[in-house]
Amino acid sequence: MRYISTRDRSPAVDAGQALRAGLAPDGGLYVPERWPAARPANPDTLPSTRLTDTASHWLAPFFANSPLEDRLPAICAEALDLPLPLTPLDDGQAWLLELFHGPTAAFKDFAARFLAGCMAALRAADEPVQTVLVATSGDTGSAVAAAFHRRPGFRVVILYPEGRVSVRQAHQLGAFGDNISCFRVQGNFDDCQRLVKQALNDPALSQRHALTSANSISIGRLLPQISYYIHAVSQLSARGQTPVDIIVPTGNLGNALAAILARELGLPIGEIVLATNANPTLAEFFAGDDYRGRPGIETLANAMDVGDPSNFERLTWFFRDRDLRSAGIRAVSVDDQTIERRIKTTWETQAMAVCPHTACALEALDQRRLAGNPGPHLLAATAHPAKFEGVVEPLVGQAIEPPPALAELLTRPSHAQPLQAEYRELVKIIRSDQDVA
Ligand SMILES: *Cc1c(COP(=O)(O)O)cnc(C)c1O
Repeated sequence: MRYISTRDRSPAVDAGQALRAGLAPDGGLYVPERWPAARPANPDTLPSTRLTDTASHWLAPFFANSPLEDRLPAICAEALDLPLPLTPLDDGQAWLLELFHGPTAAFKDFAARFLAGCMAALRAADEPVQTVLVATSGDTGSAVAAAFHRRPGFRVVILYPEGRVSVRQAHQLGAFGDNISCFRVQGNFDDCQRLVKQALNDPALSQRHALTSANSISIGRLLPQISYYIHAVSQLSARGQTPVDIIVPTGNLGNALAAILARELGLPIGEIVLATNANPTLAEFFAGDDYRGRPGIETLANAMDVGDPSNFERLTWFFRDRDLRSAGIRAVSVDDQTIERRIKTTWETQAMAVCPHTACALEALDQRRLAGNPGPHLLAATAHPAKFEGVVEPLVGQAIEPPPALAELLTRPSHAQPLQAEYRELVKIIRSDQDVA
């Protein structure tokens, strides 16, 4: 499998090169040159098997003819061996796909661990230390940090928008130390993302410091996410619950694009609903307006505070010959007040505490039920509610116990340096930190 750029002005590369580069040289995002044929039925993909088997079977074509081809099963076995409960809701026809049982309690652990496994496998022993740059609205940074923590040959530079992440998220981001450095940027998430993109697009800097990205623009993040949708949909299919509509809390469109690609692979998936917070870009676009990227606004579902989703370019590329607005994709925007109400109602009616992002998906489900859609739905539950204690605890009126891995991180000391949202400031850090790891 070769990968080309969404902007068509970069040479085709193999999966290993695409993964290491992050962005294509022309500033576009890597996409598979050809879409793989639907996979034939294989006993390995039966729903009773583990996610790690589903993943190595379905992802194989994407890594064919690359240095990762032979390592793929081992990488999947190591990275994706995380609990993946499918929890029925009271609704009877809807299931939460709980993606938050990894080390940092958000879905991004799956992809970050997979990416780190691939990058480690690709690394030659005599190569200089690689710098993984990551802009985070809260959860990516800690997932990437956990995945690369103490991995020889890598250092991670995390940029997060100061004051825009929860107290526990901030603590977690700064708690790793060792080969992980953490910066609180005076700006919003889009500023962080812009700085990272600019550095990666700077050929001299990028080469000199072996820069790479771990943001959701990386093909190494997107691809593994496809596997948990395939896994869950196969289980529902075995119970006669397909075609199933999928609702995904959405910010940069990485997770939702994976659900869309699972459907492109032939899985029995109906509509895909992008559940966004009050950032209206996607909801407006799917309602018929022109696409208009803009700065993100702050909401309670802060991991989705994105006004110009980075994977939109990839989405339009996949649908370049089709009308994206009639492709079975919908978008719903949920404001903060409604998020709060939904968290409260879910607690009162189902005794279930949910994070503000998952609440957006639950709200979208409710709206679809009210609009007369009784069919099966799969909802991505993207983070553990204990990560967003400041929002969730007052609404449910009690403390939410952090899962063990998160609790452990919270007991460690935490440190983040301030950083102005100026490119030259980032460049200084990248240059100066070179010796640290
Ligand atoms: C990152 C994140 C999202 C948004 O995912 P995208 O892939 O950026 O659309 C949703 N919920 C949580 C908890 C997240 O951390």
